[in-house]
Amino acid sequence: MRITVLSGGVGGSRFVQGLLAAAPDADVTVVVNTADDVWMHGLRVSPDLDTAMYTLTDAIDPERGWGRRDETWHAKEELEAYGAEQAWFGLGDRDLATHLVRSMVLREGGTLSDATRRLCERWQPPVTLLPMSDDEVETHIATTVDGADVEIHFQEFWIRHRAQVPVHAVEVHGLADAVPAPGVVEAVLEADVVVLPPSNPIVSVGPILGVRAVGEAVRTTRAPVVGVSPIIGGAAVRGMADQLLTGLGIELSAGGVARHLGARRDGGVLDGWLVDASDADHLPGLDALGVVGRAVPLWMRDPATTRRLAEDTLALADELRG
Ligand code: GDP
Ligand code: CA
Repeated sequence: MRITVLSGGVGGSRFVQGLLAAAPDADVTVVVNTADDVWMHGLRVSPDLDTAMYTLTDAIDPERGWGRRDETWHAKEELEAYGAEQAWFGLGDRDLATHLVRSMVLREGGTLSDATRRLCERWQPPVTLLPMSDDEVETHIATTVDGADVEIHFQEFWIRHRAQVPVHAVEVHGLADAVPAPGVVEAVLEADVVVLPPSNPIVSVGPILGVRAVGEAVRTTRAPVVGVSPIIGGAAVRGMADQLLTGLGIELSAGGVARHLGARRDGGVLDGWLVDASDADHLPGLDALGVVGRAVPLWMRDPATTRRLAEDTLALADELRG
């Protein structure tokens, strides 16, 4: 079975871990958001690609949920001592080597796909990891900082300001002209199921679907498209989806995100949508929207619950395939 997942960082990668436990023989392709990517100290950093690569190879720091385990921070301290502009960004010493290798490949004229392949030669994740695009795409947030209206990179919003500044608008630079990375459209069109995992709908899944040809492939693939709500009971489980959704005027609920994504029969991207067992009151609304809903436990607390969620996702896809 071929499964294609359109993923952000932490939420998506965790879900893919469950998927690999639920379907060990499946051929899984993970198309990863690259709109969080940023140049830091002259290096290209791809947070979601790295989170996926480290999570799926058990190299991730389990407490932090990002970066390498057994990390040290000497380079970051040295950057602070230099008063370097972007010292608020957490670059660990081990992690730094990943960004050096990626940046070397890019400087030698390679693409982000080339760089990702190069990194995966070492890590050998049990999936095919593809960037959504080789073009530079960057999410920026229009906000107000210290009384001034400014536009800042998403990483600055998230890490430096901890999402504690207002969201006026989300601008994804480069998205309108971005083309899919090699293999992405095929992975969507040739899949037996396409999954939107519980990733941030605005800054993770949004940019992937916003690469025009990827969005088109998701709208037209013969495979069922099943999504998992990243919102449980009116709150994002982890991360900053709350601030973003509220800032953009999208209802902060499992149903609100489903309406934002839309039903495929009406030009949206969803055939099926899993909401948490506690959100079963959203099922009639999904029905009216034209999306097949199921209420199941959505908390990825541990490997067992995460696997269960992946099994429920595949079961809904089976039903939709009829
Ligand atoms: P990021 O790129 O690291 O922010 O990761 P993602 O975009 O892949 O996922 C972040 C989103 O996952 C958060 O906004 C949460 O709403 C959602 N999330 C995290 N953990 C869980 C969980 O256990 N269950 C569900 N349903 N959603 C979760
Ligand atoms: Ca991310």
